[in-house]
Amino acid sequence: MVAQVLFAAGDKRWRLYEAPLREALEAAGIACELATDLPRETVEYIVYAPDSELQDFSVFPRLKAVLNLWAGVEGVVGNKTLTVPLARMVDDEGLTQGMVEWVTGHALRHHLGMDAHIINPGHVWRAKAPPLASDRPVTVLGLGVLGAACGQALARLGFPVTGWSRTAKQLDGLRCLHGADGLDKALRGAQVVVLLLPDTPATRNLLNAERLALLAPGAFILNPGRGTLIDDEALLAALDGGQVGHATLDVFRTEPLPRGHPFWAHPRVTVTPHIASETRIAPAARVVAENIRRGEAGAPFLHLVDRAAGY
Ligand code: NDP
Repeated sequence: MVAQVLFAAGDKRWRLYEAPLREALEAAGIACELATDLPRETVEYIVYAPDSELQDFSVFPRLKAVLNLWAGVEGVVGNKTLTVPLARMVDDEGLTQGMVEWVTGHALRHHLGMDAHIINPGHVWRAKAPPLASDRPVTVLGLGVLGAACGQALARLGFPVTGWSRTAKQLDGLRCLHGADGLDKALRGAQVVVLLLPDTPATRNLLNAERLALLAPGAFILNPGRGTLIDDEALLAALDGGQVGHATLDVFRTEPLPRGHPFWAHPRVTVTPHIASETRIAPAARVVAENIRRGEAGAPFLHLVDRAAGY
């Protein structure tokens, strides 16, 4: 049998992914027809990105699965025409490693007060050592693939890390809390908060004025999750009032962040342009190939999205 795989993640990505995908599919022992255009009635797998033009999956009668190249699925999870399994991107070598590097790098920047020494136009001798990591409580909201890896990396650096998720977890080196009751406890007194939650109706505006007030005064916020997780107005007020010392934001309600948005000019906001971590082509191609191999072997797909939970 020759698996029929439609690449529907855009022409630009096709140019980057075609060769690595063919290589990964061959290495996985899959005979397949891989193209950006196939007769609709033959298509069995769709390699997808939510910014794709393709929005109507009902036209593919033999479709077995949609394989998303992104970790976040808010742009496709609610698509009513999608009735087959939806897998998202989970890739430890690329996506997870990249996120661990971004989160630990930005956490250490704030923890060590690096800006005061790197940008020091007055050449002031500020001989004050930063505290040790063990004196800086960190809270990670979201303990999925990325949150767990980042939390554990921060714990290995010596930070006392509390993590929070929807369901109960046990993770080495982390204090794990969950559910509505756990949230206030997780935030109270935190000096660094990392947001690695998905965008769902339940997570929107989660970090609001009330919850920002629970943090230690001057806390640092790192948001590589989604822009909708934070109430922007409440964050700006907390920055202006000193309750939040700095916010490093990678994701926004509107991307690219519009010119003139207050985040661009705020002296205590760092904007990074949704680059915290991206899907790396070669390992992602292997993840896609493995899922097609599983589909062909009748084995369960990896990294399936829970459509009811929205992530
Ligand atoms: P996962 O699905 O593995 O983890 C999501 C975590 O969020 C889980 O721990 C889940 O809890 C928790 N969660 C979801 N809803 C709630 C809720 N209502 N209350 C409490 N906890 C909740 O996702 P990943 O770790 O792979 O990715 C996280 C997000 O990171 C993505 O959705 C995406 O938005 C973002 N991302 C950003 C990138 C960037 O470059 N900026 C790159 C890649 C991803 P539970 O474990 O109990 O299910």
